[in-house]
Amino acid sequence: MNTLDANRREFLKTSGTALAGAAVLPGFLDGIVRKASGPVPLADTATQIISDCAWCGSACGMKATVSGGVLTFVEGLPEDIQGGGKMCAKGKAATGYLYDPDRLKYPMKRTNPVKGVGVDAGWVRITWDEALDLATAKLKETIEKNGRDSVMILGLASPDVWARFQNCIGTSNRFDHWDECFLANRVVSANVIGGFVWGHDFANAKYIVTFGWDVVGKAKVVWARAVTDAKKKGAKIVSFNPYKAAGTSVVADEAISIRPGSDLAVVNAMIHVILAENLYDKAFVEGLTNFPQYETEIRAHFAPYTPEWAEALSDVPAETITRIAREFATNGPAIAPIHKKTPSANYANGSETTFAITILNVLAGTIDRPGGRFFPRTHTIPGIDAIVPPPAYPAKSGVDIVGRHRHPFLKAVGSGMFSCLADGLRKNPGKIQMGIITRYSTMAFPNPPEVEAELKKIPFTVVCDIFPNEIIELADVVLPSALYLEVSDLVARDHHAPYKMTVVRQPVVPPQFETKPLGSILLAWGLKAFPEYWKNPDGTPINMGYVLDEKTKRAGLGANFAEMKAKGFVKEVAPFVPRTSFPTASGKINIYVKAFADAGFEPLPTWKQKRDVPSSQYPFYLLTIIPPMHIRNTTENNRITNEIKGTNEVFINVQTARGLGISEGDTIKVRSRVGEIQVPARLTEAIRPDCVLVPHGFGHQSRLMTAAYGKGAKDAILVPGQSMDDILARKDVGGAACIMDAVVSIAKI
Ligand code: SF4
Repeated sequence: MNTLDANRREFLKTSGTALAGAAVLPGFLDGIVRKASGPVPLADTATQIISDCAWCGSACGMKATVSGGVLTFVEGLPEDIQGGGKMCAKGKAATGYLYDPDRLKYPMKRTNPVKGVGVDAGWVRITWDEALDLATAKLKETIEKNGRDSVMILGLASPDVWARFQNCIGTSNRFDHWDECFLANRVVSANVIGGFVWGHDFANAKYIVTFGWDVVGKAKVVWARAVTDAKKKGAKIVSFNPYKAAGTSVVADEAISIRPGSDLAVVNAMIHVILAENLYDKAFVEGLTNFPQYETEIRAHFAPYTPEWAEALSDVPAETITRIAREFATNGPAIAPIHKKTPSANYANGSETTFAITILNVLAGTIDRPGGRFFPRTHTIPGIDAIVPPPAYPAKSGVDIVGRHRHPFLKAVGSGMFSCLADGLRKNPGKIQMGIITRYSTMAFPNPPEVEAELKKIPFTVVCDIFPNEIIELADVVLPSALYLEVSDLVARDHHAPYKMTVVRQPVVPPQFETKPLGSILLAWGLKAFPEYWKNPDGTPINMGYVLDEKTKRAGLGANFAEMKAKGFVKEVAPFVPRTSFPTASGKINIYVKAFADAGFEPLPTWKQKRDVPSSQYPFYLLTIIPPMHIRNTTENNRITNEIKGTNEVFINVQTARGLGISEGDTIKVRSRVGEIQVPARLTEAIRPDCVLVPHGFGHQSRLMTAAYGKGAKDAILVPGQSMDDILARKDVGGAACIMDAVVSIAKI
């Protein structure tokens, strides 16, 4: 009997259910969801293991109940400062990922040379040695024949072992989804307050204004619970969002419907009011920012952005903008969060919007203050390179196929640019000869068919993943990666870290099937491909256990990792001491960013229209959201969350639908300038008449994902990609991906 069969039979025996098909799901849910509603008595044989959830940056500490070697239940870790003892539906559905029968189980290679999404690759099972030998031979041959930049990596720059492997390759063609997420915020924050911070102290804020970021509905527990805590304590919440059923709008004291892409106008008008009426925090702004140096320029810049001007662009009444600006400035601590895939930050003007919202927080005087955005107080955990220093890495060319090197601020960050990838590949035919892809679906890109058409031209691609999403259909070799429930790590709190806390990540069960933790995969691959970088000075292979022990010790968390596993977490409660200087060159916050001006960008947030605006051909703004029970396009195959929401639809305003003869449930063709999808209509009063909304994450085309396959449609098909020329032409300092920036037509079929 192989490991897979043994594990599955044991799980089925213990849980009293089966996972193989949807017909048995109610029984399966019985064992998971109902237990989630109350305290769970531990069976005699059960043990509880402290670890943390890895589905999002909230990294909620958790206690995993394991009975007879089977994970049966997870619950929040009460001592955790991020999760606070809570977990969201995605995190609670842990067993659904761990025991997903569709997980990638073994290394595989394709036998059908014809690549394409929906084309059977003819996978055959191979050993780890065969897989890594094949991948190594191709990697060496590609670098030798075509140079380091002919290898393209689609993956994050971290963790540290992955960074080491990437540095061994030495390519400048590494891309990730950051431009769709927080790249603009990184660039803006680095230049305004001196560094990007996740920390938003909602719980101690008295006034919270959100622009499109559905902090509550997006269900990152670290923030969602803090906003609801603030509300319980009497904070006022104002939510600007074109979709009134967004979670934050639902709990808000005021939910204000705003025209998509016009948040920048409203924020600039709020700044106009605060400056004109001198309502800003004088001690903070005059003592800790460059306002005194640039006051004339700053006041002159915002003078034309009156509430009346903003009303015409946003449909928000001028008197409402004025009132909210006054309340925000005088009822602090006040905070205005800004983040990622929101209906405000992912337009052609998203970087400017992020810039303006950052200034709003500065004027409120709450940067690194209770109730505001704050820098994390974290443990410093060294990376593998500090513990086992590598030989010098090969120099990188610094030139990439999408042209990130042409943009001073994007070059400095060195991440992102999924939105430009199809363009980069198209303009550089034959340049990329090998792809290495970790944990990304083609659904993560705007216009997936365009990206798939380019990716399948790459002669050899290695995909390392957990689930068989559509990108593996473009792969030649597949390496099955372990899940967060099967790996070891140290996870310092950074999303909410008023003091230092680190939670252990440890296997609650061994890696299932033949999967391996990413660190083990890279060590094994590294020893074959770049042995000098993966050995100790004495020639023995790097011991990952030793690396973890050293990390634990050097971070001051304990004598070794075993001690950390036993403790579960280290928490060093200390008073929060607000900064009196910031990590900028001058030590002061830059409201006016001279570095932007010096590089030819706007030194202050300047109104720009969004990229695509409604026309007679495409009269509706397209909105997308990520449903709270899912993570982007990754978790839809989980039987638990799939049962809660397994497909999507198009939300249409009731009046709009009536005018077009559309009824609830009708099949609707949604069309943009780049693509078309068909989904059922859902009629609602909660959306503006000029908008339609298609939830993201559905429309999986991989037949190997049996729960998610064929359900719903990809909203991203409607979203145009872009090029670096587009970004430079609009002088976009943060390179926003514009993944909310589409307009569509709708028609009943
Ligand atoms: S918010 Fe949910 S998905 Fe994110 S870490 Fe917490 S439990 Fe996991």
